[in-house]
Amino acid sequence: AKRGGRGISRFYEPGLGEDGSTRPDPGAELAAGLARGEFTVHYQPLVDLRTGRAAGAEALVRWEHPTDGFRPPDTFIPLAEDTGLIAEIGAFVLRDACRQAARWTRPDDDGPAPMVTVNLSAQEVTDPRTVEQVRAALAEAKLDPYRLVLEITETVLMQDREAATRNLRDLKALGVRVAIDDFGTGYSSLAYLCTFPLDMLKVAREFVDGLGRDANADVVTRAVVDLAGALGLLTVAEGIETAHQQEHVAQLGCDLAQGYLFSRPVDAETVLAVMTGEAAP
Ligand code: C2E
Ligand code: CA
Ligand code: CA
Repeated sequence: AKRGGRGISRFYEPGLGEDGSTRPDPGAELAAGLARGEFTVHYQPLVDLRTGRAAGAEALVRWEHPTDGFRPPDTFIPLAEDTGLIAEIGAFVLRDACRQAARWTRPDDDGPAPMVTVNLSAQEVTDPRTVEQVRAALAEAKLDPYRLVLEITETVLMQDREAATRNLRDLKALGVRVAIDDFGTGYSSLAYLCTFPLDMLKVAREFVDGLGRDANADVVTRAVVDLAGALGLLTVAEGIETAHQQEHVAQLGCDLAQGYLFSRPVDAETVLAVMTGEAAP
């Protein structure tokens, strides 16, 4: 694959290939990529700050484009939403995540079974068909619903509150858990912490970045973590890159952490070794 050539098209007429031919429209390209099986799911471990062990992993979709190489999800998730292909991508990620998590068992261990977290796009949060997709993925993998956590950003929740609330109630009825993703970066409204049936709160990397440098970041993070704890929510610190940040969030009372310090997102076989206790996170 021609890596690093990604910026080249910028120098050509939009909609034209390097040879001047018409390029396929991005939506069609995405659909073709799906049909050709170019999508995979990688997993990033979530580490228990008390035990240092992997408590689960987040599913992150990957597109290995035949000529452009790896394309980051931020570049195609919005397109997938516009074209409606997000339902297909979402179902694919859900199925893979449930299937992988069903394999994550530690032989001589009575600790909690690892969880898998899956990101839901704005459209999936309000689409009633998501409930059936989640139910089907769980049934197919024979996964305990409690082990599946659906990640939703606060911005998405606030966009269409009524539809989101209805859908989340139906999803929760399946027995899955729900997390607020990137907490602190959107329209943070503490009100929804009461109105939505939440189980987990993920503190955004942007927030973690300010810890130890910005006194207000410390105070606000501590208050958020205390509040979440009082509401019975699990707290996760995202984007931990240094041992210093790890100590800091542990000291603030976060339950779990995720970031390059522990592991980058890795393929399914690599994460399997971590989740079965054969490898460190
Ligand atoms: P996110 O849900 O906040 O996922 C975390 C992102 O931060 C991932 O980027 C991950 O690789 C990256 N990350 C993890 N640890 C660190 C760290 O220590 N430092 C830094 N700088 N970054 C870290 P990724 O995989 O490129 O995903 C980007 C976004 O795309 C995700 O943000 C999520 O919003 C979206 N996304 C990814 N997979 C899916 C999916 O299957 N469905 C949907 N709807 N969205 C997805
Ligand atoms: Ca996420
Ligand atoms: Ca996040």
